[in-house]
Amino acid sequence: MTFEDLRIVPPILKALKAQGYTSPTPIQAQSIPILLRGKDLLGCAQTGTGKTAAFSIPVLQNIYLDQQNPPRKKGFRKIKALIVTPTRELAIQIGENFTAYARYTHIKNTVIFGGVKQGNQTQALKKGVDVLVATPGRLLDLMQQGFISLKHIEYFVLDEADHMLDMGFIHDIRKIIAKIPEKRQSLFFSATMPPAIVNLSQKILGDYDSVTIKPEQATAERVEQAVYFVSKSDKRKLLLHLLQSEPAQSVLVFSRTKFGADKIVRWLKKSDIKSAAIHGNKSQGARQRTLKEFKSGKIDVLVATDIAARGIDVDELSLVINYDLPNVSETYVHRIGRTGRASASGIALSFCDKDERTYLRDIEKLIKQDINVIEEHPYVEVVTDASPKKTHKPQGARSNRNKRSGSNKNFKHKKRNNYKKHRSSPSRKKG
Ligand code: AMP
Repeated sequence: MTFEDLRIVPPILKALKAQGYTSPTPIQAQSIPILLRGKDLLGCAQTGTGKTAAFSIPVLQNIYLDQQNPPRKKGFRKIKALIVTPTRELAIQIGENFTAYARYTHIKNTVIFGGVKQGNQTQALKKGVDVLVATPGRLLDLMQQGFISLKHIEYFVLDEADHMLDMGFIHDIRKIIAKIPEKRQSLFFSATMPPAIVNLSQKILGDYDSVTIKPEQATAERVEQAVYFVSKSDKRKLLLHLLQSEPAQSVLVFSRTKFGADKIVRWLKKSDIKSAAIHGNKSQGARQRTLKEFKSGKIDVLVATDIAARGIDVDELSLVINYDLPNVSETYVHRIGRTGRASASGIALSFCDKDERTYLRDIEKLIKQDINVIEEHPYVEVVTDASPKKTHKPQGARSNRNKRSGSNKNFKHKKRNNYKKHRSSPSRKKG
């Protein structure tokens, strides 16, 4: 399957070639024909599957074709497409994608988000745009101030709906929907589909088709995973041990808390490992700077909380480390999806202390596979609890729950190759 097969118009095809996209990802191959037919779409997919292009290409193409027939008259542009997404990082990322795919058309976009002064954003809006990418709070704020009218919206995309709900944006979303015309094409994306999300989607979508890209596909097929049993207090030593014994660029470390993320960075800095934290307490400017330094290779290790990591789009991340295991299994899938993007294969290592073993079991249930246990490391946590589920054999003994003989060895072998690959090709392209 090629983008030509999907009947993408020449200026967008040219831009996709310039991006180095040779063939559509599964979500693109399935969604683009539905959206070019004008139907609504319910997409169950996570970041990393190529979902941004899956919605931005057809939205751009539809606007492009509208503008050809009759040819667009000069004059003030009215906002035709609205993309609402939960975080600033994601908003910026989506805006960059729109700009890249529209570079050979006359379609203009801008991005608005909170946490920064509004001057630059209102300036851009005053010049006129066809596509607006926004986080909910700033969108409502600028609507109330009269800088934005949604009266001419023809395409509405709600991205990462499950995170919108987690972040408490439900009322904002309802207010936004009330302001956009009923006659429109609606796209609704969410990585998970709990009842509250299904309910919300029914309020937004008309006659829709759905596309599901299972998160399990991402974990099982692309990402090499392993877990280290280690006590809470030894985690930082284990982290240092791994980073020093297998130096790698582009390592993303997940911490459950902002405080924890800062602590990890302080610890790594003491050992001269170039690292920085990205989380909600950092200003937008600081986050952007850190991300830029990470993408350019100035920082090797980025320590992030889950929310802050949503928009991190770095191709060929060499390694994701779960310093803490998340208590929501879907979050694990989101996290490890940061490595092994589009066509790359990735590695995800998790640290699991005795209190996190139930989380590990839940994750394994969700992804329907056992995660390989690395038993040979200097900080193995021996759990003496008599409960059979919690016992773990000491260092050197092979665990019963994972009898893949030699799998540790294979894992190490692959890991080395992967790191080597990264050292020899340090240039990372931006999405
Ligand atoms: P997303 O799921 O939208 O965050 O996309 C994940 C990454 O895949 C981004 O870096 C995109 O630039 C990249 N990508 C999207 N579509 C394609 C494609 N068809 N071929 C290669 N890379 C792609």
